Amino acid sequence: MVIEPKVRGFICTTAHPVGCAESVGEQIAVAEKYRGKINAGKRVLVIGGSTGYGLASRIALAFGGGAATLNVMFERPAAGVRTATAGWYNTAAFENAARDAGLYAKSVNGDAFDKEVKARVIDIIKRDLKTVDAVIYSLAAPRRTMPDGTAVNSVLKTVGENFTNKTIDLRNGQVGEVTIEPATDAEIDATIKVMGGEDWAEWIDELAAAGVLEKGALTLAYSYIGPELTYPIYTNGTIGMAKRDLYYTAKAISEKYGAKARISVNKALVTQSSAAIPVVPLYISLLYKAMKQIGTHEGCIEQMCRLFAEKLDVFDDEGYIRMDDLEMDPAVQKQVEKAWRAVTTENIAEYADIDGYWEDFYRMFGFNHKGVDYSADVNAEVAIEEA
Ligand code: NAD
Repeated sequence: MVIEPKVRGFICTTAHPVGCAESVGEQIAVAEKYRGKINAGKRVLVIGGSTGYGLASRIALAFGGGAATLNVMFERPAAGVRTATAGWYNTAAFENAARDAGLYAKSVNGDAFDKEVKARVIDIIKRDLKTVDAVIYSLAAPRRTMPDGTAVNSVLKTVGENFTNKTIDLRNGQVGEVTIEPATDAEIDATIKVMGGEDWAEWIDELAAAGVLEKGALTLAYSYIGPELTYPIYTNGTIGMAKRDLYYTAKAISEKYGAKARISVNKALVTQSSAAIPVVPLYISLLYKAMKQIGTHEGCIEQMCRLFAEKLDVFDDEGYIRMDDLEMDPAVQKQVEKAWRAVTTENIAEYADIDGYWEDFYRMFGFNHKGVDYSADVNAEVAIEEA
């Protein structure tokens, strides 16, 4: 079939297999430059390794560090007229390339919160890898099904009081205002259940109990802090509450298992998850403009290669790894703040990198690659080998 982008709100409901393979190939090329500099794990479990930061981590560790990688993801294969999800195509492309390079690469497609999925992963580790020496926890999920079958949903809201600020409708470049209402206590609890540390800790408990977690293993989860202007919706909002929970989980895991449990605070980037957060897309488009002008802009793969090659043992006062160092550079933030105050629908092009935002957005789904013929008939059904 001929596959075109179909954008609905902040998501694209189609994905292009050839374009996704192109994106993965570009990321592999970046990671290969780090060969010999990355030594963070040789047998790595990546939970949420099909898109965004998890995929970039998997690519950096495999192609920069020669790691065998087992990935857990929640993706959909093609069915009839529906294409597969981008994460499915990314994974197929990554695993083909890894196998060609002589690297072990397998995936389990299922709900990472589910105990049965955890058990399946443990069986595969026992069979193929014996143990893992690194676990990357890069889930970004909107909901979690609890063991009793009830579903809890995460919300992106403020805590305490209303928050009104600028926002952008990325489809038409209209800058307007949005008011975000505070979450209820139940919504805060639910967000912590989905995006906090409970499931991360459960993974580590299960891996350790099964004897497949190497002593002193590295385990990483990802967080975000950002500037004060997004504090009400992020750091001091429901998602920030969940991220704080990750911090305490990291401490608990380290103490309980002698593992190196760490949180890396990453840069704000366009991913399927960040596009859904109110206010954040406008911030990202201003940030991209500033960082590209200053010459410090990075994508997921550059961030993850730098993390594993250079920053794994560098902490701030609270013990976080700060991959947002270039984002939080005062020169960048000064420019973003100025732009934030000045930006309107009329002058948006002057202050915001809207084209850069859309370029990243379409590329996430395999579109907008110069070398791909999008008018060509392609087979949407791409197989991933059973793990
Ligand atoms: P993403 O949406 O690109 O990736 C999410 C991954 O989780 C995918 O591989 C998806 O298949 C998987 N997943 C989702 N639900 C699942 C489930 N139930 N079971 C199994 N797999 C599931 O997101 P991302 O932006 O790369 O986020 C990854 C982490 O990085 C999150 O913790 C996020 O908060 C953090 N982070 C993101 C940014 C950003 O700007 N994007 C910045 C800093 C930190």
